[in-house]
Amino acid sequence: MVTLFTQDYGIIRAFVTGAKKINNKKASATSLLTYSSFSIIKRKDTYKIYEVQPIKVFFNVSSDLERLSLAQYFCELCIKLIPEGTVNPELLRLILNSLHFLAEGKKNPIIIKAITELRAVSLLGYAPDLIACCECGKFEDNPMFFDIKSGIIYCNNCNNENNKPISPTVLSSMRHIVFSEFKSIYSFEIPEKSANELSDITENYLSVQTDHRFSTLDFFNSIKE
Ligand SMILES: [Zn+2]
Repeated sequence: MVTLFTQDYGIIRAFVTGAKKINNKKASATSLLTYSSFSIIKRKDTYKIYEVQPIKVFFNVSSDLERLSLAQYFCELCIKLIPEGTVNPELLRLILNSLHFLAEGKKNPIIIKAITELRAVSLLGYAPDLIACCECGKFEDNPMFFDIKSGIIYCNNCNNENNKPISPTVLSSMRHIVFSEFKSIYSFEIPEKSANELSDITENYLSVQTDHRFSTLDFFNSIKE
C-alpha cells in the first residue's frame, strides 16, 4: 500500500499489486519520492493502482542524507497537514518544485526548507500578516519583531512582549515567500547566517500554527548537528 499526493483527489492510500516482483515497472514508479501518472480504480473506500507511468524519479539511494531527509520531511508535512478528501494543487506544485530543487543540488537546502514551510503553511490557511507593524503601520525597522503565535509583526517601538527579533533581510525573504507569484518564489539568495535564521523562524511558525511535530524534521536536525 502506498500514500499518494494527487492533484485531483488530494492524499489517498492505494494498493499496488505485484510491486514486490523484481523488474516490475510499478515498483519503481510507486517508490518513495517519485512523480508519476496513475490510473486508479476506486471500489467503495479502496483505491487500486492498475497502471502507472513514472514522470520523474527525484532521488536515488545514493542521494545525500541531508537532502533526502528534507525531502521526506516535505512528504510528512503533506501527510499530516492536508485533511483527507481535500485537494490542494498549489501545494502539490510547491512540493514538486521543492523536490526538484533539492534533487538538483544547486540551491542551499536550508532556503528550500524555509520556502516550503512558509509557503505551505500559508497555502493551508495560516499565512502570517507581514505587511507592516500591526500597531503603527511601520514597514521596516532593524530589527522588527515577530509574534509567532499570532503571526503578526511589530516595530521596535510597539514591541512589548517576548517576540522574536527578525532582521530586515529575513523579513524581506519571508514577505517574498508569502506574497510573490509562484514562479518567482525560489529566486532569491541570502547569506548562510540569514538562511539559518529564516529557517528557524519558518520551522517554529509552522510547528506552532499547526500544532504538530514531525519526526522527519527531528531526524534532519539531528544529522545537521
Ligand atoms: Zn509600530
